Order: sequence, then C-alpha cells, then structure tokens
Amino acid sequence: MINATTAAARRTRAAGPSACDRCSGIGLRISPQGRVEVCPTLQMGLPHAELTAGGKIINRAVAGLWRRKIKVDLVYFDIARLLSQFTAERPCSRTELVERHFAYIGGINAAENQRRAVTLAIRFLREIWLLPVCASKRGGYWIATDALDFGEWVNHAKSEPLTTLSTIYRLAKANFPVFAEQLEIEFWQDFGPQDSDKSEF
Ligand SMILES: [Zn+2]
Repeated sequence: MINATTAAARRTRAAGPSACDRCSGIGLRISPQGRVEVCPTLQMGLPHAELTAGGKIINRAVAGLWRRKIKVDLVYFDIARLLSQFTAERPCSRTELVERHFAYIGGINAAENQRRAVTLAIRFLREIWLLPVCASKRGGYWIATDALDFGEWVNHAKSEPLTTLSTIYRLAKANFPVFAEQLEIEFWQDFGPQDSDKSEF
C-alpha cells in the first residue's frame, strides 16, 4: 500500500501535477489493441494537461514515423517513454534498459548480446525515429528537450565513432532547427575549404 502510494506520488512529480493519467503527459499511449495511438482524451478533443517536454519530442518523432508510414514498434515506444523520464544529470543506465526490455536475451553471451540490443535500440531511435537520445560517457541515456542539452551531448558525440555527423545533423534539424543551422555553419567552416580543394581533382 505504502509502495503504491509512493510510486503514484513519484509519477505525479515526474509528469507535473495535472498530467493526464491515460498518457502520463506523453500525448500517446498503447491502446488495448496493442497499437500506439493518440491519447483518447486528445482524440475526443477534451481539455488535456500540457504535454511534458519529453512528451512533445516523442510526439514529433511518432508523427514523423506515421507520415513516413513506418510502424511504431511497441518496445521502442516504451523505451522512448522510459528515457523521457531521465535527464543529463540523472541518465537512465544501460542496466535499467536491459532489465526492463532485454532481460529475456539469454545464451552464453547474454550480457554482450543484451548490451548490443540496447545499442541497436538507441541507434534505431536516433536514426529512424529521429529522437534526440543523448548518452553520457558512462553509458546512461536520456532524451534532450532543449538545444542546450542537445548541444552538450553533440560536443562529445562528434568524437564517438558510432554517431555519425549526418545523424547528429538530422537529429538537430528534426528537433532543434536553430541549432542545426549553427551546425551547418560549423561544418562548412570545418569541411568547406577542403571539399572545394578536393573537387578540383
Ligand atoms: Zn493524455
């Protein structure tokens, strides 16, 4: 009883005092039929609490998938929802992601395969969903909700072999257009002259 109350209080704090209990401020939920759908309160046009910052970003990503006719995978949706509760100061650990979503992966190389599953999921969310999933050096994840937050991650992601500049740019363009413009200028300054040199050969 005490545990349930504590959990409910925590949820309320995370999503704001008047968050919708159907979608927890994400604006989307998994329907009883097992599909990602717009929160029924929003569908009916009834008053709805403002979406959380992470909720708005997830909404944009899902709208983009629908536009491109890409099926919204339930596991990835669940991971996105989970990550939206975390921040740069308190990222979601790889262990938590494994425990919640990939603990079923067994076998001799279970730990390695679970780790790989997390990496693949994060890559998919970034490259296909265009969700700005940031990572800390120690392997924790969160969703950037503003350009400042995203920019800090970009600085260290540029040196990460797994995250290509084009992915970073596409993420920025989809979520933080002003930041994307700055990146464009930077890229041009870094690569522009060399590129035009090369084009002479
Ligand atoms: Zn709702």
